[in-house]
Amino acid sequence: MNLVDNIQSVKGIGEKNAQLLGKLGINTVKDIIFYYPRAYKKYSDPVSVSDTTEGERVAVFCKVVSYVESHKGRRYTITSLSAADSTGSIRMVWFNMPFLKSKFHKGELYIFFGTVKITGNMRVMEMPEYFTQFAYQKMLSTMQPIYPLKSGITNNLITRTVENVRPVIESIPEYLPDDVMAENSLMSRSQALLEMHFPESEEKLKDALRRIAFDEFLDFLVKIRMLKEKTVVEPNHHPISEEAIVKKDGFIAGLPFELTAGQKTAVDDIVGDLSSDHNMSRLIQGDVGSGKTVVAVIALLLNAISGYQGALMVPTEVLAVQHFDDISKMLKPYKISVRLLTGAMSSKEKREVYQELKSGKCQVVIGTHAIIQDSTEFQNLGLVITDEQHRFGVKQRDKLSEKGDSPHVLIMSATPIPRTLAIILYADMDISVIKDMPADRKSIKNCVVGTEFRPSAYSFIKKEVSAGHQVYVICPMVEESERSESENVIDYTDKLSSELGGNIRVTYLHGKMKEAEKNEILHKFIDKEIDVLVSTTVIEVGINNPNATVMMIENAERFGLAQLHQLRGRVGRGSAQSYCIFINVKKTQDSMERLKVLEDSNDGFFIASEDLRLRGPGDFFGIKQSGDMDFHVADIYTHSDMLRLAHDISLRFGTEFDGKIVL
Ligand code: ADP
Ligand code: MG
Repeated sequence: MNLVDNIQSVKGIGEKNAQLLGKLGINTVKDIIFYYPRAYKKYSDPVSVSDTTEGERVAVFCKVVSYVESHKGRRYTITSLSAADSTGSIRMVWFNMPFLKSKFHKGELYIFFGTVKITGNMRVMEMPEYFTQFAYQKMLSTMQPIYPLKSGITNNLITRTVENVRPVIESIPEYLPDDVMAENSLMSRSQALLEMHFPESEEKLKDALRRIAFDEFLDFLVKIRMLKEKTVVEPNHHPISEEAIVKKDGFIAGLPFELTAGQKTAVDDIVGDLSSDHNMSRLIQGDVGSGKTVVAVIALLLNAISGYQGALMVPTEVLAVQHFDDISKMLKPYKISVRLLTGAMSSKEKREVYQELKSGKCQVVIGTHAIIQDSTEFQNLGLVITDEQHRFGVKQRDKLSEKGDSPHVLIMSATPIPRTLAIILYADMDISVIKDMPADRKSIKNCVVGTEFRPSAYSFIKKEVSAGHQVYVICPMVEESERSESENVIDYTDKLSSELGGNIRVTYLHGKMKEAEKNEILHKFIDKEIDVLVSTTVIEVGINNPNATVMMIENAERFGLAQLHQLRGRVGRGSAQSYCIFINVKKTQDSMERLKVLEDSNDGFFIASEDLRLRGPGDFFGIKQSGDMDFHVADIYTHSDMLRLAHDISLRFGTEFDGKIVL
């Protein structure tokens, strides 16, 4: 028998059973081996009858002390007997199993296993399993598999079938070298698969799960590595010039601030990539406010001076406009032509940009998804950058690269993710981490409060505004089926405006507004013509107004930690002391615990790992978008040590195990 053989080649599986198993997706020998139990049943040492308690699932070692009775009830045939040990008696009851009448005889000893019920002062076990002492001894302390089933299929059928393919499982070859297994106390592959079905003990099962998680991770990482080797051997079609490298130093010297150590390293990494003999594929990871934009600008500058076009894609119109304004200013002295391209622009404007991209006149384009539409063609695209990467799917990222002849790829993520996740999500990339914040930053002061704190919050806002600072308020969210979000923002703004008094300029922003209108408001906010901006979460991504010092978030309990951290990241971007007020409206146990994390820490990496711990990886940052991560057993959080180990092994052995891991 072989892994690929049809399930009908297994003893006991004829056409009918094969059809049944087919309903569970089991068609081959391999399929049944990888059909893991959903749970396990454990048999324990028998206890005395008098020690059993209601609802407990136990074994008792008893003598049959009555004749077996069997009578037809209204719905069932009921078969029953009395059994007892030296401490008490207990009634055994079975439904629709009349054949048991001839099974048991007075005076025989059995071990009965089931859940105890107490009716009146009588103990009863309904539908107990029964074993001879010898048979039970064999079962004792083992764990019996419970498989996911569909109607017509019994657990027994699957258990028997797996039992019958045992020799195939035992002969699954080991691909890992002995020393790797020994050093890391890994169980062998075939033993792990056997233990998955028939665990000898909980310890062994845990080891089996570890090993299988390891295999799943390693297989994933090896596949990614294969992809990466394909791209990495891609030669550098767009090497940068000496002139570019020199001019870049001038640009850095002319900045109004000194780059942080992390920014410098990121720039060095990029210069290294762009002048090497292969393509760049790099992730810049840094907490909100760590200054990733300027690093992107330096990359665009290097690329443009070397004679290639560059594109920067961002997830929202508002952010595109802001980046466009900032970056065109910064690149102006270098006579680099920068253009904006967003869906909100008129067709005429867009056509003009398309034209300039095709002819090569436009050297840098900054925009939204509009950049990856079919109509955009480049003359010589050398570098593509995506900002706030977590908002884009992997496909969109690739689509941008396809616009050129293997352009360099740079990705900027404001969402700090734990290393274990980065390994998975960005397995095909090199990573630069900006750990430090610019030196002039004061860390944000946080408070988590209830709604009764609102009046004090408003007077605090007044104080900050009169000191010349600005404020964001994230509006409470509307319940579904209540009124629309926009109405809600408008009402809240009116209320707030009258609370704060006439001379404080309060304006609102929400997702339903026209792009042009949103942009105008943001411009006014950045130009200090607005003091307080009430907004929905549209401002979450990337907006930069260093003069804003207060962020007040209503209904903070409704957001995830990572998102709250992003929102908070809108303040504390300048040298003044900033504050974040989280209003916890519902004060549940869970929301208090989550918000406490934010109150105590401003460290995005720590927050991300807490978020992962509290929420589990399922929803984490839309992680599901990378569809390949279809692990059966492996869990990024519970098996994070296996993920790290798989990562190390994949570095040490490269793609050697490709195709050897049977999954
Ligand atoms: P993010 O990493 O969140 O994208 P930005 O690039 O928007 O951060 O930078 C936030 C603010 O910090 C901007 O106003 C930027 O000019 C400023 N900044 C960037 N680098 C430094 C630095 N090294 N020193 C001081 N301020 C800096
Ligand atoms: Mg940014």
